[in-house]
Parts: sequence; structure tokens; C-alpha cells
Amino acid sequence: MSNPIPFDNTYARLPERFFSKQPAATVPAPQLLRANTELAAELGIDPAWLDSPEALNVFSGNDTAEGSEPLAQAYAGHQFGGFSPQLGDGRALLLGEVVDQTGIRRDIQLKGSGRTPFSRGGDGKSALGPVLREYIVSEAMHALGVPTTRALAAVTTGETVLRQEGHLAGGVFTRVASSHIRVGTFQYFYNQNDEDALRELADYTIARHYPDAANAEDPYIALLERVVEAQAKLIPQWMALGFIHGVMNTDNTAISGETIDFGPCAFMDDFHPNCVFSSIDRNGRYAWGNQANMASWNLSRFAETLLSLISGEPDAALEKAKQTLGTFNRLFRSEYDNRFRAKFGLAADAPLDLVKSGLSLLTKHEVDFTLFFRHLTYGNRSELSALFQDSAPLDTWYANWEGATQSAPDTAAMQQANPVLIPRNHRVEQAIQAAYRNDYAPFHQLVDALAKPYEDRAEYASYEQAPQAHEIVHQTFCGT
Ligand code: AMP
Ligand code: MG
Repeated sequence: MSNPIPFDNTYARLPERFFSKQPAATVPAPQLLRANTELAAELGIDPAWLDSPEALNVFSGNDTAEGSEPLAQAYAGHQFGGFSPQLGDGRALLLGEVVDQTGIRRDIQLKGSGRTPFSRGGDGKSALGPVLREYIVSEAMHALGVPTTRALAAVTTGETVLRQEGHLAGGVFTRVASSHIRVGTFQYFYNQNDEDALRELADYTIARHYPDAANAEDPYIALLERVVEAQAKLIPQWMALGFIHGVMNTDNTAISGETIDFGPCAFMDDFHPNCVFSSIDRNGRYAWGNQANMASWNLSRFAETLLSLISGEPDAALEKAKQTLGTFNRLFRSEYDNRFRAKFGLAADAPLDLVKSGLSLLTKHEVDFTLFFRHLTYGNRSELSALFQDSAPLDTWYANWEGATQSAPDTAAMQQANPVLIPRNHRVEQAIQAAYRNDYAPFHQLVDALAKPYEDRAEYASYEQAPQAHEIVHQTFCGT
């Protein structure tokens, strides 16, 4: 019989200093909570296998699948602006790679699989909460059309882990990513002045993610260009959904341009550009409206690591890198403007006044971001008014908007830009709390609801609603 997961590993062939090989820790009594049949099929895994005892052993770390070569990847990173020369997979293991049905190489990784040489003081484990949060939010992001890592499986382990909140049920998450190469992976070798490793990593990254860059006149500048472009497209997608990543550290910035690491992330209810949820983001470094600045800062850290590859002439290398980095703002701006024009149903070349005045209106009157655009899209005038305590300012803005769109907004564009459902924080929190009480139904329902976020489906109408006062989540936590 062929291997249940058709592993075809390449990262494990890189030099040994890129990682540390080891199996996952075993757990006492694993149980499968959910597996992603659609994603499994994409990866060439028989969906029927997902329910087997063998699969449970693989997803819990109790067994190493045929062809898997588990390893913890080495990386460094700037966390909230401060550099840590060694982070690495402290609670994760790359099981290996598969080439999916469309020919794209994808990583399969366990999260919460025990200690590694990169664990520092941590236990290498994960509580169930962060496992479910990542499952819910990463799959929602995918359904919303945002490049993101995916959820293949979530299991409980039958053991508890000790966190601030006390002893919590443990879990293991199986994540799929187009790779786990981060800005921090480059920084790890840059910091060690290991130019051979940097070149090998850069060449590997080009071959895996941006193969056309290999033929460019200057492949490493081409690599930087592609990564700048990917981030400049990603951040506006987040912002247009009211998404706040929460920990945009360089170790959480994927070179592929996928959203990665759903720790203290959150979707805003009421709109405010300074909105922050993460308990550890005290200065608002990663606030909704600061995410482009932070992506740009992270890209500068990436560019730094490539300088010696770009040219043996430091000044020339710096000049080229600066030029490329300089394209971020323009690219970001144009993507952002287009996404917000679409949200407001405006033509592609429309002036931005209504976008600006619309967002100020939401800020000033503390209006729910998702509901506003949802009702605007469907022309639900009375529901729209109900979002405002006093509807007079809305009436004025609405008259301008009707004038600008000549009462014929681009509804099709609006429907694609304005989801009916997002993973609201209070729903995510409710699903997690219920799971800790062994009730997994809210988790499953939420994942099912979010699979088609742009469709108006009556059975999921309650998931549209903003939280009631007592349900509001004010802070989110890494939970590690
Ligand atoms: P994060 O901010 O969640 O991306 O994690 C930053 C670093 O902390 C990474 O190197 C993680 O591997 C490590 N880490 C987080 N939680 C744990 C844990 N429970 N045990 C060991 N290492 C951890
Ligand atoms: Mg991380």
C-alpha cells in the first residue's frame, strides 16, 4: 500500500544547521476533533483515512508516518521590535512536504507536539484553545479569500497543560502551509554571518516560491520584489476584513505571503483604526491601522539579510534594496484603495472621499464594521440606520454615497468584498470555552458557518450578530 500521506521532503535535505530532527512527544489518550476532508483531498491524502486510528496517531504525534522526517526549524526574529537570535520551532515539528494536486509543494506541520531544542523555557505543548482558534480562523481566512496557512486536523491529547488560567486540556494542531520559511529564518543566518546558509536558503526559497525570480537579472532583488509585492497585497486584504493579526513579528511573517500564526489575532467589531486586542501589544504597535507600516518594517529586516547576496558592493546593494522596498507604499496604497472602493461599491477610478468620510463615520459613531458593509451591500437601509444611535450623520453620508454611485453601486463587487460572516471574537471564545467543557458542537457549527462567509444563509444568521455587551471580547492572548 502506498503511504497515506505522500511525503516528498526537501527541507530535510538542506544543511543540518537549518533544523533539528526529532520525533514528536507521545500523548496518553488522543481523540480526533476535526479533520479537513477537502484539504486532505487537495494534498493527495485519502479523506477516508482521516478517521482511522493510524491518522489519529499521526495527528497526535504518537506515530511517525511513513516518509515523514520530523524536524524543528531554526529561525530568529524581531519580537515587538527587539531581536531574538534564536527562536525556532519550540512547540512545532515539520512532518514533511507533499506536492498537492495542483503541483504546489506544501508543508505539513504539527503544533503542540512537545519540546525541541528551541523550546527554551516552554513545554512545547499547546492548550486546546489556541488549537481551535487557529483551526477556526485560518479556515475562515481561506474561505474569505485571504492567503493563509490551513487547518488539516485538530486533536485532544488526553493530558493537561499548565497555563496562566490553570490546567487546561491539551491539543495538537496539524497545519498546512506553502512553507514555513519566515523573515526570521533569513535573520537566523544573517545574524550568524553565515553567508553560505543565506545563499542556500535564498535559492531554496526562490525555487520553491518564486521560480521566475531565478531568471531575473538580479535574482535576489527579484526575490525581494516578490516578497514585497506579496505583503503589499496581503495587508490590505486583512484590513478590508477588519482583521488585526496581533503579532506581526518577523518570525510570524511568511516569505510566501500567507497569513501565519493566529495567536492573539482578532476581527474588529466596532471600527477604529487604532484597534488592538492583543494583551501584550501595549503600545498599539500592531493596531489595525499600523499593519502596513509594520509589514514595511519587517520587509526592511528581510532586505537587510539579502544585501550581501545582492552585491559585493555594500553601497550598491543598499541602493537597490532601498529602491525595491520603496515600492511597498505605492503597491499597498493602490491595493488598499481598490479593496475599499469595492467595499463601498465605487468604480475603480472613483475619488476616495467617500471611503474616507465613510470610515470616519464608522469611527466616530462606533459602528460595527462588518454589519455596516453587509447592510450597505444589500441596501438594508433600516438595518443600517439601526447601527447608529442618531441616524442623521448617516443620512447625510448616504445621500452623498447615493449621489456618487448614482443609486447604482457595483453590488456584485460589494458582495465579493463584504462578507456576511467573519469569525467574531465572542463566537470564537464561546466555541473554545464550550470545548473546555467537552462540548464541541459550537466549534463545529462555527467552522461550518464560516465555510461560506459571503453567502446569506438563514441557518447561520445568528453568527452575523455583533456581541452583546456581556459577550464583548476586549483582549486576546497568545495562550502559549
Ligand atoms: P509565537 O509568538 O507564538 O509565534 O512564538 C514565538 C516563539 O515562542 C517560537 O519560537 C515558539 O516556538 C515559542 N513558543 C511558543 N509557545 C511555546 C511553548 N509552549 N513551548 C515552547 N516554545 C514555545
Ligand atoms: Mg510564531
